[in-house]
Amino acid sequence: MSAVAARGVLVVGALGRMGRAVRAALAHEPSLVLAAALEAKEHPERGARLEHGVVVSDDLASAVAQCDVAIDFTTPAVTLATARACADAGVAYVAGTTGLSRADTDALDALGARIPIVRAANFSLAVNTLVWLVRAAAQRLGPAFDAEIVELHHAAKRDAPSGTALRLAEAIAEGRGEPKASEDDRKGERRPAKGRAKTSGLVLERAGEVGARPAAAIGVQALRGGDNTGEHTVMFIGQGERLELVHRSSTRDHFAAGAVHAAAWLAGREPGVYRVEEIFGLIPPSD
Ligand code: NAD
Repeated sequence: MSAVAARGVLVVGALGRMGRAVRAALAHEPSLVLAAALEAKEHPERGARLEHGVVVSDDLASAVAQCDVAIDFTTPAVTLATARACADAGVAYVAGTTGLSRADTDALDALGARIPIVRAANFSLAVNTLVWLVRAAAQRLGPAFDAEIVELHHAAKRDAPSGTALRLAEAIAEGRGEPKASEDDRKGERRPAKGRAKTSGLVLERAGEVGARPAAAIGVQALRGGDNTGEHTVMFIGQGERLELVHRSSTRDHFAAGAVHAAAWLAGREPGVYRVEEIFGLIPPSD
């Protein structure tokens, strides 16, 4: 009996920090093989030859035609264009890019009618376990415990706060049974009076006379510096006690391994928007 052929993978942003980590992780997933690599037209190493003789290209249509599943860690604009090309070609799609607006995520999710798709602000198994734990803690502790999130990332990170911090905020809201604190709250919706939230929800900055902390607010603070690959601390601050849940990462390997695992899981599935929690076998308490 002959072995099943490995499915071809397109890595989008193949020479970026995550793209390189994803290519390295592919070596440990026998069901997948690098088949195409996309980079920006202006990238100095465009045309370079990578693993399995794959040449770095900027030809989206031809790259998509050569693969079964795409893994994309780039920018929101590139992600949307690539996902649409994947949908046109019937190629499964894994989106790791952060900084997506609500309109972006809606557009990606709509493509789930045509292809299997998963998007996640964080593909680490441990971080997704943290999301699960945070949701459970928020459910049990309720808004009487003030929730604050602190994240730290490398100096070159483009978006703030991190997609993972926003996902953790969303998990707190889910756990409390409140409307989601969405990623859109980042875009221009800084709270009035420099961080003073009139209603419960995200508080992204505090400066000046902000007044008392609104009940049920979820504070998110972003720190930047050095080469840090990501740290997230979620605090539930009560009267005379504090619960902290922390994840610290020192490499990008676990994000890449999770995205490759997701790609292997997704390839060949029915069209649909799949949740990373489902792919990792995590069952949220709300399910
Ligand atoms: P990076 O800047 O190192 O890499 C992005 C790459 O995309 C660059 O090489 C760039 O040249 C390339 N690119 C730009 N335009 C392109 C185009 N038109 N076609 C193809 N490639 C193009 O950034 P990074 O640190 O690798 O992060 C990328 C994204 O992944 C960010 O949004 C980051 O927040 C996110 N991220 C997500 C996770 C996760 O687990 N979901 C983990 C880490 C980073």
